[in-house]
Amino acid sequence: MKKGIFVILSGPSGVGKNVLVDELVKDGYGEYSVSVTTRNKRKGEIEGQDYFFINKSLFEEKIKEEDFFEWAIYNNNYYGTPKNYIIEKTEQGKNVIAIIEVQGTMKIKKVYPTAITIFIMPPSIEELERRLKMRNTDSEEDINRRLKRAKEEELYKDKYDYVVINDDIKKAVLEIEKIIHDNEK
Ligand code: 5GP
Repeated sequence: MKKGIFVILSGPSGVGKNVLVDELVKDGYGEYSVSVTTRNKRKGEIEGQDYFFINKSLFEEKIKEEDFFEWAIYNNNYYGTPKNYIIEKTEQGKNVIAIIEVQGTMKIKKVYPTAITIFIMPPSIEELERRLKMRNTDSEEDINRRLKRAKEEELYKDKYDYVVINDDIKKAVLEIEKIIHDNEK
């Protein structure tokens, strides 16, 4: 059986990665790989759906047990991609879509070279700031840290297989669906 594709989306916080993944999953383009994190749950987030929220010591135990494909520290918190889910699904011929920041993506590309990496860009940094403030889930300090990180992460965009600008959600979804479709051939 043909293996499924492992699709990785990266891009600055607030660029709309979660909305894009929701649409891709709804349209049947893959299943979402739920990551593990030590950051606090935001209002409206659901355990096991948005993330598996665990504490630092448990996360460190999982690192030792090699439960993660990769893990990284972002904004003083751990984030990791569980290995089993991705291996299982892709073996079953299903695509898996994960949201991973740049360091983690670069690590995965080394151990999983057939993964497709897509960098999502905001139309502008001003628009990103507006979206982060509108989300109203992070402190000002946190937003500033995320904006700084966004500028740093953008430097990596040329290392990605594709770059998609999320100006209009519908257009961005169609663009990503075409990328996945083309890679399934
Ligand atoms: P947020 O706190 O806004 O949900 O996510 C912050 C950052 O963590 C995002 O840039 C996202 O790409 C990244 N992230 C989410 N899950 C993972 C993961 O499993 N591994 C890595 N390396 N980064 C992740």
